Amino acid sequence: MSKQFHKQLWQRAVHLSPQSQAPHDSLLVLEGARECPVCGQVQMLPEIRPGYSVDCVRCGTQLARRRRTSVIGTPVALCMTAAALYLVLLLDPLMTLNVYGRENTVSLWAGPEELAHQGYGGIALLVAFVTIVMPGVAIALMGAILYGASRKRMPDWVPCLLAWYERLRAWSMVEVYVLGVLVAYTKLVELAVVTLQPGVYLLGALMITMATLDSTFDDELIWNNRALRETVDGQCGRLFDVAHADRQCDVLPPSRHAVSCTCCSLVMAFDHPVEAQADLGDCPRCGQILRRRKKNGFVASAAFLIAGITLYIPANLFPIMTYSKVGSGSPSTIMSGVIELWQADMIPLALLVLFASITVPVLKILALASMLVATRLKVRKPLVFLGKLYRAVEIIGRWSMIDVFMISILCAVVRFGFMANVHAELGIVCFALVVVLTIFAAERFDPRGMWDAAGLNDAAPNMYEHEWRVYKEAAVCAATQGRTPVEAPLSKGQQPPDHNDMEPEHA
Ligand SMILES: [Zn+2]
Ligand SMILES: [Zn+2]
Repeated sequence: MSKQFHKQLWQRAVHLSPQSQAPHDSLLVLEGARECPVCGQVQMLPEIRPGYSVDCVRCGTQLARRRRTSVIGTPVALCMTAAALYLVLLLDPLMTLNVYGRENTVSLWAGPEELAHQGYGGIALLVAFVTIVMPGVAIALMGAILYGASRKRMPDWVPCLLAWYERLRAWSMVEVYVLGVLVAYTKLVELAVVTLQPGVYLLGALMITMATLDSTFDDELIWNNRALRETVDGQCGRLFDVAHADRQCDVLPPSRHAVSCTCCSLVMAFDHPVEAQADLGDCPRCGQILRRRKKNGFVASAAFLIAGITLYIPANLFPIMTYSKVGSGSPSTIMSGVIELWQADMIPLALLVLFASITVPVLKILALASMLVATRLKVRKPLVFLGKLYRAVEIIGRWSMIDVFMISILCAVVRFGFMANVHAELGIVCFALVVVLTIFAAERFDPRGMWDAAGLNDAAPNMYEHEWRVYKEAAVCAATQGRTPVEAPLSKGQQPPDHNDMEPEHA
């Protein structure tokens, strides 16, 4: 807070100082360029037709996609449906359990409430946050973004909300909760009479609506509608004039000059090489802080990963819950839960829990550890495979929460005192922490660092530095005089970078 305040004070002082009248440095915006978020290759994107997507020329990561659906209309309809489903879901029960004539009906709130009642306040907060608070926040943010984007002049708060939406969306775990409910239901059917209530169907409908909303929402088209500021605040109050490079031009800056905004993906180039983790000022489109690479990504990711590995051992050794019937019961661990499901002939479910609770965390830990080692050892060969692995880790990481959700539901439903009771145990706290810590580790890790360390981003710049400088000066000069930028010089033997191949979308 105080850092932001000091920054604003400093910027005001610079705006008022006589030096601010002096000619500013320039920041060249490369229209139509995109930096691959996985390998860091800057490349020009072709115009994308609706229904098509474009992949990175080096590592195959999807860089952009165009939907056939309406830019605002379809997401608005889906967002309104999701909001209605969410509000009704908050009031509706999920399931009823009947044990020897005694009934217990639970809603979405009951799981966190019961966990808090049993003394696991932290896990209760986590479950409430990802299953109740975040879906609501995601829907509200999306509604506000779509409202702002539909107005003639996009209000200044839209980029800020869009940045928050991108950051928080992964923490809304409705789809994982649906699977948690399914696993809990299958376990309960063995014990007593279970009746599914309308809430479960609403939950399923909400999951499908939110997934469709995300796949039809094209943030790039919304960003493209946003006008760029003409001057931006750079490092230490320096001002930069924003100039535009020609969209048709194949020339790309040396990678150490280029920076891509992590929020709106705008690619810009500086006059001079810039440090990888330095604060480079504000993005002219969304106002977020520009950095070439995530700050302290390697160290933070390693720290989260080591903490996750340390907790993974007690998460497997300690019991995660105790099911007691008529006063007696035995605690069960993650593995014994899988074996019980297997022995009860529920083999698909046993495999699902085995995959989500044991395979996914182990794979995540091994994958992240190998990426950190690859960065340190500066290896080149398996980088494309590691890039694919990173994307997989990002997607499947949250599915390990199934066990945590299942236990929160079982604790809430099986609450018949002496007759039948489920109590959460310490193992589930360790396990939930492992999931959260490995999500943080994946989030903080910057996969572009692997290509940087191997020297692949600096070794083959698209243009040599002095030629880039000549081109940039000409482009800035043309932009200020209102002409189209000059044709770029190409060095001997240098080919323009390959255009990305456009592929029909499979998603
Ligand atoms: Zn790439
Ligand atoms: Zn931006």
